[in-house]
This record gives sequence, C-alpha cells and structure tokens, in this order.
Amino acid sequence: MLEVKDLHVNVEGKEILKGVNLEVKDGEIVAFMGPNGSGKSTLAYVLMGHPKYEITKGKILYNGEDITEMEPNERAKKGLFLSFQYPSEVSGVSVSNFLRTALNSKRESPINVIEFRKLLMEKLQLLKMDKSFMNRYLNEGFSGGEKKRAEILQLAVLEPKMAILDETDSGLDIDSLKTVANGINKIKTNDRSILIITHYQRILNYITPDKVYVLVNGKIVESGGKDLVNELEEHGYAKWGSEESTSEEVKA
Ligand code: ADP
Ligand code: MG
Repeated sequence: MLEVKDLHVNVEGKEILKGVNLEVKDGEIVAFMGPNGSGKSTLAYVLMGHPKYEITKGKILYNGEDITEMEPNERAKKGLFLSFQYPSEVSGVSVSNFLRTALNSKRESPINVIEFRKLLMEKLQLLKMDKSFMNRYLNEGFSGGEKKRAEILQLAVLEPKMAILDETDSGLDIDSLKTVANGINKIKTNDRSILIITHYQRILNYITPDKVYVLVNGKIVESGGKDLVNELEEHGYAKWGSEESTSEEVKA
C-alpha cells in the first residue's frame, strides 16, 4: 500500500531524513519508533505533503502510484490520513460539523444529516465516548486525552485506507491509552493499514504491530517483528547512541 524509497528530506536547509526506506502492506499495523528529534514527525508531515518539508531525493509510492509531489488534499482523497502530534483548536466549529464537512469532502454527494448523526452515534458508542462530545468546539479546552480521542473519532468516521498516527499515545493516562488503543484495533480491517509513530513502547502493549522500524538521527537503524518492541523496552535506544528510554511515566 505505502512504500517509501530512499527518502531524503530537508527542513529549513538542514537534512533531517537521510535515506529512509519503509513499507506498509494492506491490512498491516506498522510501528515506527525513535527518540525525540530523530525525524518521526518529519516523516509523517512529508507523507501528507506538508510544503515546508523539502524532498531532495527518493520517492513515496501509494498503491503503486508516485505521490511524492501530490497535494495534501489529493492524498486525503486517496485515503491517507494523518493524526497530528499537536492537534489545533478550532473555535466555533463543533466536532460534529467538522466531521461532516470532512466526510463530505471525500464523498461524491453529501451525506444526509440524519444519516450522518446515526453514523456519528454509532462511532461514539464504539469508542465509548460521551454524546456531548460532538457538540463541543473542536479541541477547544479539550484535555490531552480528549484531543486524542477526537482524532480516533475522526479516524472511525472517515475510515481512511492508510492512517498515520503521530504520537497518539504520549501523555495519555492509562484509561485514555486503552480507549485509544481499543479504538485503533476496532478501526483496523484487512484492507486498512495503520502506521503508528511513537517514542514509547507502551501503546504497543495493546496493539500488536506486524512490523517495527527504529529511526535514529534520520536513518532506519533496525527493523523487525513485534519482538523488537520487547527488546527496545529493555534497552531503550542506547544501542544507537541515544540515552532516551522507551518507557513513559504513567500520568495519574
Ligand atoms: P521527532 O518527531 O522524532 O521528535 P521531528 O521530526 O519533529 O522529530 O524533528 C526532527 C528534527 O528536525 C529536529 O531536530 C527538529 O528540530 C527539526 N525540525 C522538524 N520540523 C522542523 C521545522 N518545521 N522547522 C525547523 N526544524 C524542524
Ligand atoms: Mg514528533
């Protein structure tokens, strides 16, 4: 489904990604791990086509098609979805209106309001979220956990073929983490793939990845199966010269 080949990316003239290769097949959950500043978010932005990130070499293929130069909205229409590490607050736009507009932009004809409400209720229930959530302004005054739940709700409503989740897990308390992980597991189907970008191994106790990549200093230093997560849990990123650990203190 998604193939990244020898990707080199500059941000403000500095090379951040130094030849990244990555493959996500149909229906796979792939974990992309690395310490702070290794370039994980850079990869996420580049996959969505953020204009600030300059690709100097390499390419991105999506279902065999070269999307390296494609506009972000075109990528979204093709089924790519990025959940941000730091979602923005949008005052005056309710969660419900936002989701309906987003869904309609992907559809040929707009969804009927009643039908949409039904769909939204169903997804809220699936994710064990309160109904009142849909009338609140998007991310305004949301706690960290609520912002992440809102992202997962988007995922459930928009049903993208390829979801890229950038640090959806960091800073969550254990209940929110479980809800988010559960939501991701429920959304996952045989033709839907998920790229989980994370510093910490914690969320991978609830979601089993098919493949794991480790990024350090803009390069993939190791890849493997789910067992790699346990190895990282024990030793952190020290092997590659980073002192950072892969475990996060659980917030009360
Ligand atoms: P990670 O998500 O793994 O923590 P990032 O991709 O956010 O890493 O950052 C990798 C490096 O690129 C860091 O050194 C960061 O300072 C730099 N960087 C990322 N985005 C920008 C930007 N928009 N402007 C300037 N530097 C950036
Ligand atoms: Mg990041």
